Amino acid sequence: MATHAVEVVYRGIFQKNLAKNICRGIVLAAVKQGKTGIAFGRYGDSPERNGVPAKNFAIVADTEEELQASMALYEPKAVDISIAVDDTLCKGVESWAWYGLQPINRLTKPGGYVLVTTMLPFDDLLKMTHAKEHEYHLAIVQGLPSFSGLWVYKDDHTDVRILGAIARIKPDLLSIEGVEAAIRQEWKNEHKVISARKSYERVQTLAVPPGTGDPTTPFEFELPQWWQKREGLAIPSIAAGPRFQDPETGAVGGWRPERNPYFKKFSTRTMRPVVDFDTCIKCTLCWLQCPDSCFDVTPDGLYDANMDSCCGCGVCEAVCPVDDCITMVNESAFTDNASQWEMWKANKETYKGWVKEKIQHKPDRSHGFRFRGQYEQQIKDMVATGIGGPGGEEITERVITDVGEASAGG
Ligand code: SF4
Ligand code: SF4
Repeated sequence: MATHAVEVVYRGIFQKNLAKNICRGIVLAAVKQGKTGIAFGRYGDSPERNGVPAKNFAIVADTEEELQASMALYEPKAVDISIAVDDTLCKGVESWAWYGLQPINRLTKPGGYVLVTTMLPFDDLLKMTHAKEHEYHLAIVQGLPSFSGLWVYKDDHTDVRILGAIARIKPDLLSIEGVEAAIRQEWKNEHKVISARKSYERVQTLAVPPGTGDPTTPFEFELPQWWQKREGLAIPSIAAGPRFQDPETGAVGGWRPERNPYFKKFSTRTMRPVVDFDTCIKCTLCWLQCPDSCFDVTPDGLYDANMDSCCGCGVCEAVCPVDDCITMVNESAFTDNASQWEMWKANKETYKGWVKEKIQHKPDRSHGFRFRGQYEQQIKDMVATGIGGPGGEEITERVITDVGEASAGG
């Protein structure tokens, strides 16, 4: 007799259908093995917007009684597997609620698994992942994190590759035969069965000893008590914010807007802007158009994207009139939220080299699709270059065949 819980941590809009399909596939595979289960999401509305991290859950039990017992909880307090469908979620997740930043492995049971879709090696993932007090395992499904948009499902087999990996790392939860039977029923696609089987054979795992990983404490805050709240509904306006000091000249100037201390937003980001201050013409467009007031105005009239509050939308890159002045770069290429302008002020030559190195990571990711047929174009490009496919080295003409089966959905 046993109950297993799995959480899928994903970014809203871009990965909602992916998370739903994974949880549905887990339950279906379990049912094929004579078990029972249920899949559900934590939220149905706001966190699904704008890439805010959200969660889906799958609970699998041997009996109805055990399932009912676990469903008496709002959501699982501990899980056997935490699935991060994007490696940058390993930096921690801040949902649309008063939680602060939560480590990706916060709910992972002792000896449990954090299963990540990534092209990074274990060492790089561990640098991002907060240290835990007990041992757990990291598992890697090798491939680029899968993103699509609200209306298109990017059927790059990430869903079934994760199901195959689960069957390998947690055979008491799912068997590969159960996974294959579920895929045949749900997707009626033998290519997806093959992808699940390959992932079952190739998933890599690493035992992570206690205390290994990012040693920093994620930001948190005290929730106000009910008697500390003001009467009625009051939404305070944003304070003007302070000026700040030029680290080189000591001059005071510029402006740093006050920001929400409880919801910082940076875990929403899969990409971040890198600014080339040497080519900036101070046109103000990035500052004006940023939907989250992220830009600090520096004492020398430049615009420094504040990495604590940037959600990675890419608007600043789109509006900047200077070629390559702002470049959106894969978030996994960074380990902190330090000011780029301060780095530039400290040493402009070093900064130039840093920008050159970072923007190499530009092609690794994008948000959804911006025009009809972009997915088909991406697949052709991947085949032509041999990079960026769902299985890294596994780019084949077969993937092109499957594009025709990419499904539209909400
Ligand atoms: S990507 Fe640019 S426009 Fe978007 S939130 Fe970040 S700084 Fe603002
Ligand atoms: S949009 Fe580009 S050129 Fe204009 S201020 Fe921002 S970084 Fe500088």
